[in-house]
Amino acid sequence: MRFDVITIFPKMLNGFFTEGILYQAQQTKKIEIHIHDLRDFTDDFHRTVDDRPYGGGPGMVMKVEPFFRAVETINAPLSEKRRTLLLSSQGKLFRQSDALRLAALDGLLLLCGRYEGVDERVLSFVDEEISIGDYVLTGGEIAAVVLIETVARLIPGVVGRFESVEGDSFYNKAHLGPPQYTRPRNFQGLTVPEVLLSGDHSRIETFREEQAWRKTALHRPDILGIRGYDCTEKREESNG
Ligand code: SAM
Repeated sequence: MRFDVITIFPKMLNGFFTEGILYQAQQTKKIEIHIHDLRDFTDDFHRTVDDRPYGGGPGMVMKVEPFFRAVETINAPLSEKRRTLLLSSQGKLFRQSDALRLAALDGLLLLCGRYEGVDERVLSFVDEEISIGDYVLTGGEIAAVVLIETVARLIPGVVGRFESVEGDSFYNKAHLGPPQYTRPRNFQGLTVPEVLLSGDHSRIETFREEQAWRKTALHRPDILGIRGYDCTEKREESNG
């Protein structure tokens, strides 16, 4: 699978792609990552990528034309089985199910915004506007890395044993993964649950499953459709 990223800070991304699993995956030709400098697609002497917002207001907005030229140029020679995504705090929330869907493609082109965001007309030539969470980053670069890493680990051969991907939280399931332990058996009086040392695989499976549901109910009641613990309510109760 081929990933292309358009950014005004190409060097910022290098570290993430030159170490660890994403680096290995490039070495073994499971994935390709190409980083493009948006300024290479400008047509003025100053390589301008932003301008003041129409209607006034603080900050600068990223211009539509450099993104348009970049998308046209990069996508032109490549497979049609790819999608162009704008990373945006106003996009649809990115989920594991999206990662699974996108991992079936030949490629992704990711557009990173900066400043006050990008001119809304960029949406006319992207397929999806994607947010990685309900918070605002300074730029789309970290979001692009999150997306590439999440999608890439679903490509067979990228992570050593695919069972470990299948066992992960959110992978085709409605609950988080189970808690994990490794040596030592006793850390400052905190011991590893006996069942994990029993060698009884069926008991271990049941234990892990129960723990996974327990943790999900505790941390993510929203995905189980359960009402979570409401601190405001408790405060009001104790105030009489
Ligand atoms: N003015 C925008 C707003 O009110 O939503 C925020 C712009 S933000 C400072 C600049 C860029 O960071 C965005 O264009 C986008 O590319 C990226 N970004 C910020 N938060 C993001 C998020 N949660 N998910 C994906 N990209 C994000």
